[in-house]
Amino acid sequence: MLVETAKPSNSDTIVGFIAQAKNRESAMFTEAEGKSLLSAFGIDTPQGVEIPVGGELPGHLREPLVVKAISTTLVHKSDAGGVRVGVTRAELHEVATQMRDSLADFGHRLEGLLVEEMIPAGHEIIVGAVRAPGLGWTVMVGLGGVMVEVFEDVAFGLAPLSETRINGMLQELRGLKILNGARGGLKADVSSLVTLISRLAGPDGLLASLPADVTEIDLNPVIVSDTRAVAVDARFVVGEADPADTAAIQRSEVAATDFSALFEPRRVAVVGASGKRPNMANRFILNMLANGFTGTIIPVNPTADTIEGLPAIASLAELDEPVDYAFVAMPGARVAQALAAGAGKVRFAQVISSGFGEVEDGKELEAELVRTVREAGIRLIGPNCLGTHASASRLSFLPEAPLTPGSTAVVSQSGGLSVDILRVGAMRGIDFHSVVSIGNSADVNAAELVKSHLANDDVQVIGLYVESLGVAREVMDVLGAAATRKPVVLLAGGRTAEGSRAATSHTGALSGNHRLWPAIARQAGMTLVDSLEDFATALHALSTLDLGVQTRGREAVLFGNGGGASVLGADALDRQGVGSPHLPDSVVNQLESLELPPGNGFHNPIDVPAGTLAVKNGAVAQDILKTVLAGSHPALLISHLNVGIIQRNLGETHGDVTGNIIDSIGKARDESKPGTHQLLVLKTDGSAETEEMIKAYAQRARRIGIPVFPTFEDAALAARAVLEQGQQIHQASLGANGRQER
Ligand code: ADP
Ligand code: MG
Repeated sequence: MLVETAKPSNSDTIVGFIAQAKNRESAMFTEAEGKSLLSAFGIDTPQGVEIPVGGELPGHLREPLVVKAISTTLVHKSDAGGVRVGVTRAELHEVATQMRDSLADFGHRLEGLLVEEMIPAGHEIIVGAVRAPGLGWTVMVGLGGVMVEVFEDVAFGLAPLSETRINGMLQELRGLKILNGARGGLKADVSSLVTLISRLAGPDGLLASLPADVTEIDLNPVIVSDTRAVAVDARFVVGEADPADTAAIQRSEVAATDFSALFEPRRVAVVGASGKRPNMANRFILNMLANGFTGTIIPVNPTADTIEGLPAIASLAELDEPVDYAFVAMPGARVAQALAAGAGKVRFAQVISSGFGEVEDGKELEAELVRTVREAGIRLIGPNCLGTHASASRLSFLPEAPLTPGSTAVVSQSGGLSVDILRVGAMRGIDFHSVVSIGNSADVNAAELVKSHLANDDVQVIGLYVESLGVAREVMDVLGAAATRKPVVLLAGGRTAEGSRAATSHTGALSGNHRLWPAIARQAGMTLVDSLEDFATALHALSTLDLGVQTRGREAVLFGNGGGASVLGADALDRQGVGSPHLPDSVVNQLESLELPPGNGFHNPIDVPAGTLAVKNGAVAQDILKTVLAGSHPALLISHLNVGIIQRNLGETHGDVTGNIIDSIGKARDESKPGTHQLLVLKTDGSAETEEMIKAYAQRARRIGIPVFPTFEDAALAARAVLEQGQQIHQASLGANGRQER
């Protein structure tokens, strides 16, 4: 059979391939079938034919040839001696005999031969794709051979891939230099590789047209020479279609909901509060009262007349006016009925109760709950969550909640963590717009809330805690389609190195969550962080700084007291990919001409001893920083102060030196041309007295738009977040301008 005769002109052909593959032990397309599919999508493959063992070779194939075993049980051909390269026509029969014997040794039967033209040497690249639950196709590229086998030097992206993103993936490879001809090697035609990947994984690529039961693909290798990229091996694996894959894609566009009633509720019903045995719902009422909620609270209970001193109604049906928000905490089995009574009278209902879709037994209960709220015209948040915190109306599920209204909005898949986010976040200097714990998100989901936050002028920064890649994917699609861009920080749960499924392909084996989370974060332009502390640090920085200020490059200037400290600071920055090169000589000369007391280092890091900081009671910082900003353009200026030492040594003689330095940083910023973000590290010596001072200084700095961090490591993480998100915003505004011009 000629390979050329198997041109898959329509999807029937693919369906045929799938049906046949399911009958084979390997559950794969034959190599010839796979290659015919590739070439139908314009992907270069070698000329080749399938012949029976002992059969004649048609005349048009040019030597040298490659002979490959056809065997339904064989997956890795070369492992069983099933590939011979550089073969002549004259050798064909002998090679076939050897191959038959060799396969037999490994327990396989040689059923035929695939004979191909041999592609001249080039770089061997692996390109692959695997479906991940809820994500659709994830696409991998890596350098072949040792680079992938040993170093696992691969990059992942999510289909459909733009050419920009494909280029970005190639940039991520440590081995990219090899492709570009490092050490006198062949310089590969990278653009033909990009085209190949695009034909596979671009918007109109092959992947988009494959039915759900094709689950893994390896093109291993693709040989990239200085002129072309050719897929010389093709493995298409057929498996069980994952229902989540189709679900994610089918999720329909619901009309955008106005969430303002959730974030500024005036009337709140609390369903499940008890007149006898105080429970979660009672606590919610008490929290609201203690937090100073200014609207109306309506307890709902079939038997009690008053609850926590407030008049109660027996059921939501008794509401004379609609409520904005209903907090529902009662046994799961009774929730749907309770909400049905509120048809047309409840805008948002947040169901705290558990025992729904998170457990096998509760799936039907959850489906019933969703049907009920849809019919009742209620938007459901949860179930299996903790509640909503909305600073502006002093609504919170937390007692003694941090209620200073701010611009940071968080959506959390975990209820417990949303408590920590509020507590740790407030300590790190975040003022929240809102924190919503979405639990199972049976109705309102993370992507929908992100969409509403993007359109809400009160929200400037978005934080997400999610545990599912599918949810992250939905958020990515929302961010990609949105007209406005805001900084987004992603804290991801579940990043183990396990493969996402038992895989036949290399790509499948390498597609662990620990690779897919960074890939999705990068593609969506979200800053990915590893811990709650880093999450809070990044959100604090992004919400305090003016990200409209456009910076250039990835460099920082450090300024402060303590030589060793600033060297470690430069190291911490380096680990986050932020440089701190020497200042230009002209700037150093100007700093020297300020004629400060001795002992300064001016090259960057700028180290100044206490004697210098004492000049003008600290206001000298303004002169120094203005000089720096006049003669250089760092993206970041990071000041660091050892507060205990400065105030102990200088406090009595020079007053509030630390406070004066903080004000000077702000003034230097305001009196210089924009383009540099100011960050501040305030270090403690651990004494309660210093800690108290730092708290007050941190507030003072934040009021003038300077974020404050306890350590250099935190400041460095913040620096990365600020540079990443600044770039996103800048690119989005360029894109928007571009659209307007067209
Ligand atoms: P396997 O099933 O073992 O992965 P491949 O089809 O990938 O078998 O072949 C093994 C190796 O042989 C490839 O990695 C490549 O180096 C080489 N090879 C295979 N086909 C060709 C070809 N048409 N031209 C040049 N080299 C080839
Ligand atoms: Mg191969």
